[in-house]
Amino acid sequence: MSIKKISRRKILQASSLAAAAGLISACNSGGSPDKPAESAKIIKKKIEWKMVTTWPKNFPGLGTGAQRIADNITSMSDGRLAVKLFAAGELVPAFECFDAVRENKAQMFHASPYYWINKNKSMPFFGGVPGGVTAQEHNAWVNYAGGQKLWDEMYAQFGLKPFMAGNSGTQMGGWFLKEINSIEDFKGLKMRIPGLAAEVLNRMGGTAVALPGGEIMPALQSGAIDATEWVGPWNDLAFGFHKITKFYYGPGFHEPSSALECSSNLKAFNELDNDLKSIIKNACEAENTRMISEFTAANIDAQEKLVKEHGVIIRNFPKDVFSLMMSLSKEVVSETAIEGKLNKEIYESWSTFKEKARQRSAFNEHGYTNLSNNA
Ligand code: CA
Repeated sequence: MSIKKISRRKILQASSLAAAAGLISACNSGGSPDKPAESAKIIKKKIEWKMVTTWPKNFPGLGTGAQRIADNITSMSDGRLAVKLFAAGELVPAFECFDAVRENKAQMFHASPYYWINKNKSMPFFGGVPGGVTAQEHNAWVNYAGGQKLWDEMYAQFGLKPFMAGNSGTQMGGWFLKEINSIEDFKGLKMRIPGLAAEVLNRMGGTAVALPGGEIMPALQSGAIDATEWVGPWNDLAFGFHKITKFYYGPGFHEPSSALECSSNLKAFNELDNDLKSIIKNACEAENTRMISEFTAANIDAQEKLVKEHGVIIRNFPKDVFSLMMSLSKEVVSETAIEGKLNKEIYESWSTFKEKARQRSAFNEHGYTNLSNNA
């Protein structure tokens, strides 16, 4: 063996050892053999996000659901994307969440899309519209019938990326200081009611008031408003509306599905690694299912408690009142289509889906409920 050959072999051995050492080092630090130093640096990078919400701190279902999303993103990413939640007013007031995330003061918010109706008249289609679809149908439209694409397009205009992230199901119509016997009872009625339903109430002769959850109770107590909707038995019991009035009407015409969103700053979202983007998407999907399960179970018990322990009177709206609510809802919802090209696309996609879905639901799911209850 020549000197030349020996030294070449030694060099090869030495470089293999060095490469192996590099691989071990990369594996230990979680990197890749290709770019150990660079990968190790990326893996170690921890990102901290702030999530603002429109809900009071730890509010059942809504606030706790938002907290679950924050905790799930943090744990599923093993702390690489740590999300800290701020309740309404802790970092920004409830109705400033949308702008705070646009401006990247926070990177994520949990809210209902209909709160942003002043930004665009079609926002409520992603949260819930009067005379609309049910929660399950709403999920179907967003996930499998074009809704998400339209929502992405709408939110991209504001620098945001939206995901559905919870649903409280069909909401109750609300609490009224006085009994509702006819359409006349809505004349001059001041009611807290959000989204497109506010316009329906105005056309019924009432005056709609926009208030975040935390401000409703004092307004009803002081008589500043005559009526309020909020969510349903579980959440309404938590606020204590039954201490002020016993007249509780339902189901509501205004939110047959009340979907919630967890939306991110689009630039911040796009800068994330693909696995973190997927974690956000899946944490939102998980909460979308979990929250409605929780609401369904908790509303059953809360409704019984309201009636049996607190003497609450639960009624349907009179038939002519509900019919008027439905016809005005149709009018108000269809008017969003004239606002612009995207508004028209959203309305047409949603209304086409709704008409088709209604035929099947009436026969199948609601048909089953009616038939089985009367069997
Ligand atoms: Ca509501």
